[in-house]
Amino acid sequence: MTATVPLVDARNVRKSFGTHHVLRGIDLRVDRGSVACLLGPSGSGKSTFLRCINHLESIDGGRILVDGDLIGYREHRGGLREMRPREVAAQRRNIGMVFQRFHLFPHMTALENIIEAPQRVAGVRRAIAQGEARELLDRVGLADYAGHYPAQLSGGQQQRVAIARALAMHPQLMLFDEPTSALDPELVGDVLAVMRDLAKDGMTMIVVTHEIGFAREVADTVVFMDGGVVVEAGAPAQVIGAPQHERTRAFIESVL
Ligand code: ADP
Ligand code: MG
Repeated sequence: MTATVPLVDARNVRKSFGTHHVLRGIDLRVDRGSVACLLGPSGSGKSTFLRCINHLESIDGGRILVDGDLIGYREHRGGLREMRPREVAAQRRNIGMVFQRFHLFPHMTALENIIEAPQRVAGVRRAIAQGEARELLDRVGLADYAGHYPAQLSGGQQQRVAIARALAMHPQLMLFDEPTSALDPELVGDVLAVMRDLAKDGMTMIVVTHEIGFAREVADTVVFMDGGVVVEAGAPAQVIGAPQHERTRAFIESVL
């Protein structure tokens, strides 16, 4: 019997900014079709780690494989060299990212935001891209908003457009960095519902969130980070329901 290869395999990932060791050896495996939620206090290195996974940050040690490909580096003369921007861009197409702030293009409608990358980067014909974009808008509950500009949408609607825009490139992996933290409380549910559906459809996802209810319900693995290390990882029932470490317990209590 062969062990299944995880889609994401991060080993001993290290990252410093100057003398500040932000990631001190992070390990994470995420199986295909599964969801990992990263929890941890502000400053624990969650965003930095997510950014390393699509090489928005270089790493100082360890390695990250996505679908068997080494992220950000190539074998070169018996060692490793950092990828060139074009190589990084090609690799990144496989990985969708959604940020706390939605980063939509303000001068483009919802539909134009979604078709931009497929047309420009992937060379998809406009009519095809538009058809897919309408399907994606329907999937995130915004079928009637194709012609709306970001300023005409609520934060929750903008975030759902941002999710649709990431999905338009058919990524294998979706990274979410506190996707609901900037939203008014009444808008959080619709965004989480879209993410829950995405998980149900088999998307592999890494989600940084303080939404403990979402993590408990949707995550296959919950990872609690503090001070640049993984303090505790496992099933939600274990890490959230019965944390073994005092730091985990204190954090979970603080966000419940
Ligand atoms: P989290 O997302 O868990 O709140 P971050 O990964 O954003 O944590 O940040 C972890 C630490 O790294 C923080 O102390 C932050 O100030 C520092 N940091 C993050 N990005 C940079 C950067 N580009 N330059 C210097 N320090 C950074
Ligand atoms: Mg962060």
